[in-house]
Amino acid sequence: DLLRTRFGFANTYARLPERFYARLNPTPVAAPSLVKVNVELARNLGLDPQALSSEQGVEILAGNRIAEGAEPLALAYAGHQFGHFVPQLGDGRTNLLGEVIGRDGVRYDIQLKGSGPTPFSRRGDGRAALGPVLREYIVSEAMAALGVPTTRALAAVTTGEQIFRETVLPGAVLTRVAASHIRVGTFQYFAARGDTEGIRTLADYAIARHYPDAAQTNQPYRAFLDGVITKQAQLIAQWVLLGFIHGVMNTDNTSISGETIDYGPCAFMEAYEPDKVFSSIDRNGRYAYSNQHHAAHWNLTRLAEALLPVLEQETGSEEAALASAKEALTAFEPQFEAARQTGLRRKLGLFTEREGDIVLAQDLLDRMATNNADFTLTFRRLCDAAAGLDGDAGVRKLFTEPEAYDTWAAGWRQRMNEEPTTAQTRAVQMRLINPVFIPRNHVLEAALNAAVDRHDFQPFEKLLEVVTRPYEDRPRLEWYSTPALPNECVTQTFC
Ligand code: AMP
Ligand code: MG
Ligand code: MG
Repeated sequence: DLLRTRFGFANTYARLPERFYARLNPTPVAAPSLVKVNVELARNLGLDPQALSSEQGVEILAGNRIAEGAEPLALAYAGHQFGHFVPQLGDGRTNLLGEVIGRDGVRYDIQLKGSGPTPFSRRGDGRAALGPVLREYIVSEAMAALGVPTTRALAAVTTGEQIFRETVLPGAVLTRVAASHIRVGTFQYFAARGDTEGIRTLADYAIARHYPDAAQTNQPYRAFLDGVITKQAQLIAQWVLLGFIHGVMNTDNTSISGETIDYGPCAFMEAYEPDKVFSSIDRNGRYAYSNQHHAAHWNLTRLAEALLPVLEQETGSEEAALASAKEALTAFEPQFEAARQTGLRRKLGLFTEREGDIVLAQDLLDRMATNNADFTLTFRRLCDAAAGLDGDAGVRKLFTEPEAYDTWAAGWRQRMNEEPTTAQTRAVQMRLINPVFIPRNHVLEAALNAAVDRHDFQPFEKLLEVVTRPYEDRPRLEWYSTPALPNECVTQTFC
């Protein structure tokens, strides 16, 4: 058996109490067929990409064969969905196969998504459609290449089965890799049941796996909460600095490890618009671009609430636990804002801090908003402007009234002159953080449609290749970096 030793699963979640999950195997599919194996990621996980691409490997990736050492589980969790608490959600269409230790020494979950119904499926069919699977593949790999903490895509396979949504669609399974699948909603699951022992066991597990330093402090649970808050503050700042809109920031989609998780109706905005919403299910703009840090704070407040029983143990009283939780939460906003401001300075090529920098940055953003300027391209073309040599032409064109840029740029130049850096050095630095390529919605949609409608995976392959090298200028690929024409514009995304 080629794959007998390949995964080398070393499972720890399966050692947690039985009430943390349901043990069950994936449901086999009719005709598995490989779409893609992430060769580099496989290698970094110590897995053999060739073995994964073999017939046996594909059977494993489709859920038709259980790899040696796998202990498939559907995880239990709860969650607030758009503010409404659901005491039991859980993995309704995924199986955690087990954990592997990557070459970086980090433990990773290997999970199949779309692998069949589970005790947590409620009314769902347990399956995933090819389009959303490829969307998650591309966007999560783009995020990783952009340096954003995220779950990864190890593989995608088609199932040879039809699945029924508004229309009939081809089925697929995504193999997702995550630092873990513990969510805010996992804590809420035990809190909702008054299961303090469960909360403690989960917190101890999450501390050991993700926040080992917290265990060395006098108040490990408080330090754990602090750690999760810091990671989320940094994560949301990174999203905002890239124009990324998650779309479904429910507490069950908020990872304790601080990774971006659950790529549904997510999107990168094109023209800068602070209140932008793409998701068809986000009718009130709860998860709008500029609301994402509020949503994260709200979710972290739910985590703090769920942790109150264990905070009480370490602080000695209910009042002290409440005070501790509240104090922890006050750190979120300043941490988010500091990360956002540092990032904004860097995006503008400012590598020292001066009073007025953020006013300058905000002034640019305001002008971008009123001038329909493309978020990604504005910052990328500012790199050329910073390099000098008449480099302003490109960025000016992005503004409906280019003078709005000119008057701003005069102040920006003055500010840059206060730093000793040469124009060339600055431009090089800026190009390392302001991407050229993001998965633009209309390009992504075209790639998914080609795969779904015509079984043509070339556009998917090409787009994946482009967005996983986001900081390289590649003039021949300009189509991928160009905003949608009005008639191509994607205004809504779906789960
Ligand atoms: P999400 O909106 O992706 O965070 O999913 C919310 C919940 O719905 C989770 O418990 C999922 O496992 C479940 N779910 C989503 N799609 C399906 C499906 N097709 N079949 C069963 N459960 C699903
Ligand atoms: Mg989810
Ligand atoms: Mg989802």
